[in-house]
Amino acid sequence: MTWISLLPGGLMACWLTLPGFQDPRPEVEAVREVGADHVVVITVDGLRSDAILFAGPENLPALHRLMSGPSTLNARTDPELTVTLPNHLALVTGRLAGGEGGHAWRGNETPKDGETLAQTAGEPVPSMFQQAHRHGIHTAVLAGKSKLRLLPQSWPELAEYQESKIPAELTTRLLEIWQQHASSLSLIHFRAADDAGHDHGWTLAKDSPYLQAVAAVDQELQRILQTLDDDSKLGSRVVLILTADHGGGGPWKHHRRSDLWVNYVIPFLVWQPGLAEADLYALNAHSRLNPGLSAPRPGESPLPPIRNADAANLALDLLGLPPLSGSTVNFEQDLQLLPQAVPSPPKDKLKACSDPVQSEGQSF
Ligand SMILES: [Zn+2]
Repeated sequence: MTWISLLPGGLMACWLTLPGFQDPRPEVEAVREVGADHVVVITVDGLRSDAILFAGPENLPALHRLMSGPSTLNARTDPELTVTLPNHLALVTGRLAGGEGGHAWRGNETPKDGETLAQTAGEPVPSMFQQAHRHGIHTAVLAGKSKLRLLPQSWPELAEYQESKIPAELTTRLLEIWQQHASSLSLIHFRAADDAGHDHGWTLAKDSPYLQAVAAVDQELQRILQTLDDDSKLGSRVVLILTADHGGGGPWKHHRRSDLWVNYVIPFLVWQPGLAEADLYALNAHSRLNPGLSAPRPGESPLPPIRNADAANLALDLLGLPPLSGSTVNFEQDLQLLPQAVPSPPKDKLKACSDPVQSEGQSF
């Protein structure tokens, strides 16, 4: 895989036609792209974003380190559903549950044996695992909850599914996958924070059961980061995407209410050694809008927020693969992880450039 690439020739030619536009690049300039042989989507079940800030780097060193790449703590769940299964389906299919092109799965119970997403959706719904498998990349789901068995049931191409309530077992397997396969796409799911929230509440008090559980997950993340630190060659080939299926909070021991910010505000952190710290909304002002404290549905804001469902097509993009057919979130694979290498030309000029009829032989 080539991680260094030049701008597409067509775009470059178009730029050079713009009057008075000085190409700011040095003569032999390459634009670095982020890429990887191994991509891991990490879901921390029930992780509310403000828990990371409240507990601080001394208690959650790994999560704070993961915030040192392109990241936001103001990402969004599915706008209608703040429960586990629909959000996990969103982040492997690049679709929200509702609306046109939605994956349509709204339940949160453990699926019956043999039950599939296609049965509910009424048609096959592609997942990032199918896409990766088709291109010879090893695929794995390492799950903390049995309800995630809907994934291997829905996509039999998924090469590997392991389920354990012991998070260290899942982490160990992830680290083995990196050694055993030249390339991989894995989803690893940690359940402890959600368990603590349901048992004791999503309490942000010092040493609360919830924060202790988040700290236990942080230790697993620390193992992952340590492995990458110890093997810099491997580290340069891995990208981690960490997000959550929902948060939790208030006086309740559940997270079902999708109208409460404590449930729909989640982190979205991307990390690779050497990838610069940046606010994902600032990097993506052209295509994403920070929603403040709101949770816009599609069409309710000029631009969508960053969602956990961005993960599917981002992961494929990082592996050099095209987006999922029929997906509606990050289908353009335009979620940027680096500052734009070259400033954008004026929008009307860009539009003209993108129109092959107008731009052919055109002098602006
Ligand atoms: Zn959950």
